[in-house]
Amino acid sequence: MQVVKTVTEMRKLRRQLNEPVGFVPTMGYFHEGHLSLVRQARKENSTVVVSIFVNPTQFGPGEDFQDYPRDLERDLELLEREKVDIVFVPSEEEMYPSGFSSWIDVEGVTERLEGASRLEHFRGVITVCAKLFNIIQPTRAYFGQKDAQQAVVIKKMVADLSMNLEITVVSTIRESDGLAMSSRNTYLNPEERQAAIVLFRALSLARELWQGGEKDADKIRHEMTSLIQKEPLARIDYVSIADANTLEELKAINRPALASLAVRIGKTRLIDNVLLKGGK
Ligand code: AMP
Repeated sequence: MQVVKTVTEMRKLRRQLNEPVGFVPTMGYFHEGHLSLVRQARKENSTVVVSIFVNPTQFGPGEDFQDYPRDLERDLELLEREKVDIVFVPSEEEMYPSGFSSWIDVEGVTERLEGASRLEHFRGVITVCAKLFNIIQPTRAYFGQKDAQQAVVIKKMVADLSMNLEITVVSTIRESDGLAMSSRNTYLNPEERQAAIVLFRALSLARELWQGGEKDADKIRHEMTSLIQKEPLARIDYVSIADANTLEELKAINRPALASLAVRIGKTRLIDNVLLKGGK
């Protein structure tokens, strides 16, 4: 496994890689969610490249950029075990040299849900992904369903800008009690960790209601909200039942839908979602 720190070195190496090249962009501090993306990339490609970069431009003022958990040594050991070929770990200066002033925006889908709560978050995500795609030139890139809106937005950018790669979305990996794995779960104290189950319980309720034939999105949002409000440590940021492709809020669930939410448990903001579509 080669650890590469500069764009120049990465480009030089890129010319010699066996095709197809699978790429997994991450901010590190790995859990099984990250590793499932890496495993799928390993299965489907001759070469696997993983990037680890805590991207400052996707954190808003007052968010957790400084405190975001980091453990490069452990991350590299885990990637070595997954037989990853190349790990790209650029510095902040390498990605954003002084004078950097170019940004990519995707209109519409970025304005809702996470975009409404976290101004400029997606501009940072989209721009860093575009840069990473340009540097690594992957055949396929792998994203988690856990960050459903991110996956929708990246797919839109790739389609709109005719980028030459395929985006694969991988199912959410959960703890045994249903909590979606996240690097941010480490912020939770034991009491908060217990309370955090409420996100998955609310999403499971949404799925049960929908499977039982409920099509009224308002009714489902209302049931989810009431359930979360019973948890004293939880504060709702949003509860959404939206079109799975455009992320526009739905009145009636008459097409593939995404039930998603953002909830603060103490100081930690958690997100999760389930798809309401297909064979139920
Ligand atoms: P992050 O390091 O948090 O930026 O995540 C890197 C990638 O891993 C993103 O595409 C995430 O959607 C994905 N990911 C994070 N948590 C999970 C999870 N629990 N299950 C599946 N994928 C995940």
